[in-house]
Amino acid sequence: MKWFTNKYAYLLAILAMLFCITLQIVWLIQLFGAQQVQVKRDLDQAVSNAACVSDYMSVAQGHEKSENFRNFFLSPEWLQIKQSFTRLRERHVGGSFSSQITPDSTFLSIGFNIANNKAGHKNRRIKHIYDQGETLESIMTADKRDLKRMDSLVKTECLKAQLNMETYHILYNYDSGKPESKADWEKTKKADYQNQLYGYNLNFFLHTYQLVVPSIKSVVYYRMRYYLLSSFSMLILTGLAFIFLFRMIHTQRMYTQARIAFTGNMTHELKTPVSVIEAALDAVSRYQLYREPEKLENYLAISKSELHRLTLMIDKVLQLDQLDHGEIKLRKELYDVQQGLEGVVSSMRFRNEQGAKIVYIPVDEPCFVDGDPIHLINVFYNLTDNALKYSGAEATIKITLKNTGDKVIISFNDNGPGINNIYQKRIFERYFRISDNPNIHNVKGSGLGLDYVKRIIEQHGGRIYLLSEPGKGSNFVIELPAYHEL
Ligand code: ADP
Repeated sequence: MKWFTNKYAYLLAILAMLFCITLQIVWLIQLFGAQQVQVKRDLDQAVSNAACVSDYMSVAQGHEKSENFRNFFLSPEWLQIKQSFTRLRERHVGGSFSSQITPDSTFLSIGFNIANNKAGHKNRRIKHIYDQGETLESIMTADKRDLKRMDSLVKTECLKAQLNMETYHILYNYDSGKPESKADWEKTKKADYQNQLYGYNLNFFLHTYQLVVPSIKSVVYYRMRYYLLSSFSMLILTGLAFIFLFRMIHTQRMYTQARIAFTGNMTHELKTPVSVIEAALDAVSRYQLYREPEKLENYLAISKSELHRLTLMIDKVLQLDQLDHGEIKLRKELYDVQQGLEGVVSSMRFRNEQGAKIVYIPVDEPCFVDGDPIHLINVFYNLTDNALKYSGAEATIKITLKNTGDKVIISFNDNGPGINNIYQKRIFERYFRISDNPNIHNVKGSGLGLDYVKRIIEQHGGRIYLLSEPGKGSNFVIELPAYHEL
């Protein structure tokens, strides 16, 4: 799998994502089309139901109890007959429609009037026989009432079918088939839906009714909501899974690289003190330095200091596992931070061969914490050592502390190269070392120190943070909970 580099993996993931997105889009478009057809069908159904009921209601008076009567007018077969009768108008076929109701049955007679030659309005007209007392005006008023009923029936049917949207109707003249309002009719051209023409009563045949829906999209989207949601969730989850996976691979790679660098650094770090001690002891025996106590003392001091360094390095490595498993057991006691810092400062001053300045400013108020002396000293030592290591020969390290009542705040300020914002969090990660700073390129280290420092401080219930800008030095600040007697 050597050929399968990260570049290809990224490409493959992007292609997979694109494929997924395309597939989802195609599927959603198809679904949208199918849902549009379904919504239109449901609207057709709602209006035809309303037309049936409206027809029935226009003649129902006195027959409310007759089931046959109701079933007939509400049947799809009757609707078909009536729609055909209405549509024949377009073929210039006129007709007559009348009903006669007797106590035991109802007679409907539908007649057709087909012109032999010329088609004209007259042939399309339905013959209406006025009932007793009926006038054109009374018919118009009754028709208006029936129209209102039809409108409200359509609304009810739409709500029943969960077709909650903005609608309006258009009336057509029954005889001429022309719209009553030209402006409204013009609007229908842009509308998403308009259904076929329905009559809404069986008495007058003055108008036909058409329902218009300017836009059915909202209902279509509403009906597709679960599909849309699942589609988007699937895409987002897949995207996140890819990102997460690549991040993990990336971190893993960085970690492996850091480990390799760590092994190299560590070998060097361990070897250096051993070689120095070896050389010192060799000089002692070769030049019989026991005869020159001053020189001997000097060589012994060097060996001791190197041994101390070696011990610290070995301790760091040994503590790695314990830190990971949270097995470092703190032996907490009443600990005087001032005293600890003084010890570390004087030992560092003693070991400081480059002539760097270490300024420690003690304070009058007591600074006690509930802490483990060994680990806290290691922490102070690490931070001072880093400040010295990275600030070079001209280093000035300023160590200050204060007690705010709740917290003891200790800061380690140096005039070194400073740390770029992008690294300020990462330097607390294990093995992480800034590799692109030319000034500190040659400074050896393990990348373990700050990881250890952070974990120990956090185990003490405190926190550590860094204030730094490139070229302006670094200030590592530790906050520890102050000791309070219960
Ligand atoms: P080490 O010092 O052994 O490399 P640390 O964990 O102590 O490991 O530090 C991590 C990195 O943080 C160092 O490699 C260095 O790049 C950066 N660093 C730490 N302290 C300072 C400092 N005082 N000034 C500049 N850079 C620092």
